[in-house]
Amino acid sequence: MLKRETAKLLKPMTTSDSATVKNSIRVRMAPSPTGSFHVGSARTALFNYLFARHVSGQFILRVEDTDMQRNDAAYEQVIYEAMEWLGLHSDENPLSGGPYGPYRQSERFDLYREYAQQLVASGAAYPAYETADELAAMKAEQAANKLPPRYNGAHRDLTAEQRAAFEAAGRKAVLRFRVPEGEIAWDDVVRGRVAWQSKEIDDFVIQKSDTTPTYNFACVVDDHLMQVSDVIRGEDGLSNTPRQIMLYQALGFEVPKFAHLPFLLGRDRSKLSKRHGPVSLLDFRDQGILPEAMFNYLSLLGWNPGEGETQEIFTREELIQRFTLENVNKAGAIFDVEKLHWMNTQYLKQMPIARFIELARPYLLEAVPDLQAEDAYTQQAINMARERIHGIADIKDAATYFFSDNYTVDETGAAKHLTNVSKPRLEQLRQRFEALSEWNHDSIENAIRTLATDLNIKPAELIHPVRMAVSGRTVGPSVFELLAVLGRERVLRRLSGVGGR
Ligand code: GLU
Repeated sequence: MLKRETAKLLKPMTTSDSATVKNSIRVRMAPSPTGSFHVGSARTALFNYLFARHVSGQFILRVEDTDMQRNDAAYEQVIYEAMEWLGLHSDENPLSGGPYGPYRQSERFDLYREYAQQLVASGAAYPAYETADELAAMKAEQAANKLPPRYNGAHRDLTAEQRAAFEAAGRKAVLRFRVPEGEIAWDDVVRGRVAWQSKEIDDFVIQKSDTTPTYNFACVVDDHLMQVSDVIRGEDGLSNTPRQIMLYQALGFEVPKFAHLPFLLGRDRSKLSKRHGPVSLLDFRDQGILPEAMFNYLSLLGWNPGEGETQEIFTREELIQRFTLENVNKAGAIFDVEKLHWMNTQYLKQMPIARFIELARPYLLEAVPDLQAEDAYTQQAINMARERIHGIADIKDAATYFFSDNYTVDETGAAKHLTNVSKPRLEQLRQRFEALSEWNHDSIENAIRTLATDLNIKPAELIHPVRMAVSGRTVGPSVFELLAVLGRERVLRRLSGVGGR
């Protein structure tokens, strides 16, 4: 085993460095730029971010681009774009750098090679020379014997002569970790005590034949050198953790804390995948989901604000203040798009009206071609129209009747509420409205109730028809408010139109 002192020599740190860093919480998000940024990754990034901000620690973004075949610079951009959109600002990352950079693994290959050589020197790792064909044959034989596929350890104890012979034959070695016997256990912050028997783990590769590192190896070296105190990642990383702990021990590194976040599931409770619909974070942005709604929604996937707490809408600051890993559940969390849309709508209804109009502008322009965003009536009307939307696109239909007499009419509702009985009553109401000295919620309500009393009918027998007559629909905002906002002129015009329908 490599002694702690030797390991330290590889990356000398000053005493003041280690002293300042020792007590501080440092976490990282370590995505691989090999595909779109999944909502599951966004949830992991978010929990790391909330955890770091809650304790005033550091949040690092490290790009794990060791897979030279699958990396794509465009996907690295997607990572930045996704993190930026959600507002997950990192303290150290490939773009802004930091004291433990570089933060892109492809720029750290020499470092990994150095540490791998240390493990070879101490005997904790060894070169293995099997060809791809030989490994495939090993696998096939195991499959035939109904055994799990694993490296059989054939090159564990090669003599120097045997190694030299393979080298001379031009074979390129991978470096494998010599898995020691025993149990590997840790106290997972989310899952409690987790234990693995090392006999379940074969001598895994730490450095490929092209001398680039594997994920487990690079991850351990970096988490150590970047002084990561808490590794918070998805449950799919669980089987890597015993491997990584063995590497920490072999390198003489302090083992960080681990927290494995529960899987995200689809509504059918199977692991969330493309089958369930879009899973790429930015697809939701493109569909009109607001970043603050997504932030809020993701925070509740596996975390809860506490026993009996029913609040679901939280600001970023509230989440930072309340987030702890202790309140993360073990059970998988359901990613429910309908719930996300519901939450998005809550945000759409609450945001300042000017911002709403800006966001909804393309839909509004279809309903209101000469949209005057600053105009008081426009703001009032749109504010009222947004009360009942389910998504931003609904604003087109919801707003039309505030601006134009050419709105769609719910014909079933019209047949029910605009009858030969109600139409003469609406004409009477129109006359009373015309005579009102003031036009506001209370005077309108008073006029409707008084007419109902005079006609000996229930106010509802006027309210439903009048709503139908001025908006073409059976549901909407409070009718007194609605008439007040629409304004007397529009209301009178529409009421007189009813007689002719
Ligand atoms: N690059 C790994 C991944 O994207 C990181 C896992 C980890 O957080 O350790 O799955």
